[in-house]
Amino acid sequence: MKRLLVTGGAGFIGSNFVRYVLNKYPDYRVIAFDALTYAGNLDNFQDLWDNPNFQFFQGRIEDATIVDNLARNVDAILNFAAESHNDRAILDPETAVRSNFNGVCVLLEAARKFGHERFLQVSTDEVYGSTTDVFIEGGPLEPNQPYSAAKAGGELMVRAYNVTFGVPTIVTRGSNTFGPYHYPEKLIPLFITNAIDDLPLPVYGDGKQVREWMYVLDHCKGIDIAFHQGTPGEVYNVGGDPSCERFNIDVTKQILTYLNKPESLIRYVQDRPGHDRRYAMDCTKLRALGFDPETDFEKRLEETVRWYAENEAWWRKIKEKQADYKAFMDKWYAERK
Ligand code: NAD
Repeated sequence: MKRLLVTGGAGFIGSNFVRYVLNKYPDYRVIAFDALTYAGNLDNFQDLWDNPNFQFFQGRIEDATIVDNLARNVDAILNFAAESHNDRAILDPETAVRSNFNGVCVLLEAARKFGHERFLQVSTDEVYGSTTDVFIEGGPLEPNQPYSAAKAGGELMVRAYNVTFGVPTIVTRGSNTFGPYHYPEKLIPLFITNAIDDLPLPVYGDGKQVREWMYVLDHCKGIDIAFHQGTPGEVYNVGGDPSCERFNIDVTKQILTYLNKPESLIRYVQDRPGHDRRYAMDCTKLRALGFDPETDFEKRLEETVRWYAENEAWWRKIKEKQADYKAFMDKWYAERK
């Protein structure tokens, strides 16, 4: 499994994963494939263009022709491609279904046709819904939002391709991830970059939603372990350490502290409809294969704040020059005042 097709490779986790693999496995060849939606960004590859083991192609995973052309020359597909933002999927569920479900079907068909050694689907803890306990892999899928429902649909088709056609699939369900190259519409990068510019930090509802935060490198390591050591047909939770559970409002205040900014920047806004209260996962199954995520959330958060402070050109190009960013933010937050 040395020739990998990484779909959604120009996004946040995908680009971190491509970099991680090229560094860890010098004899692997990686093709990143990405539609370059508003979230896909070639700047995420700035340090990779000279690597002879790296190639990039633009296209959509729903396009069977281009997918087949790439898939016939690789050993495995790892699918990161998705419309990944809950808020956008509420405004436009159909686009989420196209990428998060239809596209997965096209990739699976290619994996079946070309007899791939693995198909890894990057999924999310959000397919479980909300919990006061912890999610385990065999538990029910009760997605509450268009994003997570479309992701759950994609996962179920992965299962069907494993059972029906024997495609050697793996599903990973990741928890909320943060770190460098995270598109600045999501909580942590939005709040860091707004705080740097003394702009309001829009906190949904009472800010008491709980997330189990995982640093992006840990997410990449978890996917790597599941990909290489996981059992085909299985699902693996890839979560942050339980000690990294935080209320959103506490993460917000911590960001302000690191940037030496006042809490008066916090603006409570109308909550997102269907917003899950808490996610938490039992990762015993992946830990048994060696997964051991960071326990010091604050250390990684501070590093991330520093990365955004030192890489202003990366996010200012998005926030100040990308028309789509401003159009979405204006529309979404105008409705939440
Ligand atoms: P992201 O939005 O930063 O990246 C998604 C990438 O997919 C973008 O580069 C985009 O251009 C591309 N893309 C979207 N639709 C496509 C299509 N139809 N064809 C080809 N490319 C397409 O998202 P991310 O945060 O990096 O998430 C990556 C994956 O991880 C997603 O599948 C997401 O569901 C999952 N995940 C994310 C988190 C998180 O906290 N960010 C947690 C768990 C799971």
